[in-house]
Amino acid sequence: MRVGVMGGTFDPIHLGHLAAASEVAHHFDLTSVVFVPAGSPWQKADRQVSPAEDRYLMTVVATATDPRFTVSRADVDRSGPTYTVDTLRDLRAEWGADTELFFITGADALNDILSWRDTDEVQRLAHLVGVTRPGHVLADPGLAPGTVTLLQVPALAISSSDVRARVQAGAPISYLVPPGVESYIAKRGLYRDRA
Ligand code: ATP
Ligand code: MG
Repeated sequence: MRVGVMGGTFDPIHLGHLAAASEVAHHFDLTSVVFVPAGSPWQKADRQVSPAEDRYLMTVVATATDPRFTVSRADVDRSGPTYTVDTLRDLRAEWGADTELFFITGADALNDILSWRDTDEVQRLAHLVGVTRPGHVLADPGLAPGTVTLLQVPALAISSSDVRARVQAGAPISYLVPPGVESYIAKRGLYRDRA
């Protein structure tokens, strides 16, 4: 099996995430892509992040219609800050040694990779796939040769930050997030009153 792993805060998940995962799945002929919402994202300790359960449920809603996509609770259920190396260890334990893992990151996250915990083990556990993202330069962060593939994906200039700002300002988010996610945000009143 060849499984893609898309980690993120997903606050909220948007079409940029889904398009990137779909393109990587096609390019690498993946069996499936598992989305893994972060429990407590250590890079975002300085801002208010929505409850993990809301981010998990929005990810389930967004991926429900695509037979290639699944969602893992691994990071949501682990206490403490979320590190990619723990995510990959858990998924490796779940699927066994025969499954090849492809960890998907946008250009911005890939640039930060050398600051991640246990980068060497991350590279042993998964092949890294860096995807293009508007506003960011996609470059090999200088890891061991053959561990990273850079891939061009459809350019969608969408970010969760912008979606949150739009909700707060009363601006539309249709066509930026799946309809079910838009409904979920409205139903739960997410992002409305946030500084
Ligand atoms: P925020 O603005 O809150 O940081 P985000 O839009 O960057 O949200 P994350 O949950 O931080 O979303 O990102 C998860 C992963 O998806 C990261 O690897 C990120 O680089 C990637 N990603 C996010 N948006 C896009 C996009 N539009 N195109 C390609 N990759 C993306
Ligand atoms: Mg981000």
